[in-house]
Amino acid sequence: MRYAENRTVLEYAREKLDLGYAEVAQIGSWDGFKYAAASRDGAFLMNGGREALPAELSTPDIDRYVDLRRVIQQLLEESSNDVLSFRIAKEYLLKNKPRLLWIGLGQSDDWAHARRYDLVLDYLHYADTMLADLWNTLQATEPYRGRTTLIVTTDHGRGRTPADWAEHDYGIQGCQDIFIAVIGPGHAGHGRGAERPRSAPGRRRGDHPAAARPRLAPVPPGRASAATARPDCALKRAPATSSRASGARARPRRAAACP
Ligand SMILES: [Zn+2]
Repeated sequence: MRYAENRTVLEYAREKLDLGYAEVAQIGSWDGFKYAAASRDGAFLMNGGREALPAELSTPDIDRYVDLRRVIQQLLEESSNDVLSFRIAKEYLLKNKPRLLWIGLGQSDDWAHARRYDLVLDYLHYADTMLADLWNTLQATEPYRGRTTLIVTTDHGRGRTPADWAEHDYGIQGCQDIFIAVIGPGHAGHGRGAERPRSAPGRRRGDHPAAARPRLAPVPPGRASAATARPDCALKRAPATSSRASGARARPRRAAACP
């Protein structure tokens, strides 16, 4: 099953720039990323959460990381480990030099579903180091040095209240709030901004007033990043019964879409 009903931006880029199969790539920790990356199988290199790469595109290090992803037990059974997915993606970048690469990470979502806000924060700090590693790798590697744009974003937000911050789905206010950060040549000088749409309970994507009338406002100095700007999410550590020990099957699966 594919989530993308229409041609995606990755498919468009491959076609528009006349790129090869391996020059556009998606590598991630969750099969859902693969099913959302393209409207058809084989549109370009797509790698599910526990799949190997084709031998001609792989390396011994990638094969080792793939083996570890298969055997390391994860919080959600359809997920794999972000550290390993990131290393696979980085090795892929260095070996195959793709023009467009989507790296899909997911463990902040896993820990949030488990209501482990403490581990969400720990994970986000580590995710920052992966971003730094990626950017520094790009700046140390031809042909990427000085001519590559890094886009960081999320596919959804989360609920805004202590009752629903762990979830995201239709009807949960807050999961329509996303962020996007762009760094690279030609993107400097825009600073930081925030769209603060007026939302109402029960609205769905397409109904949202922000879709027709976006409002941009500067972010006040000193404000926390989008990933940590939810004071109502600063919950105390969950009791032990809601942590890893309760089992992945009891937890909700990731939602495929948000309002
Ligand atoms: Zn989720």
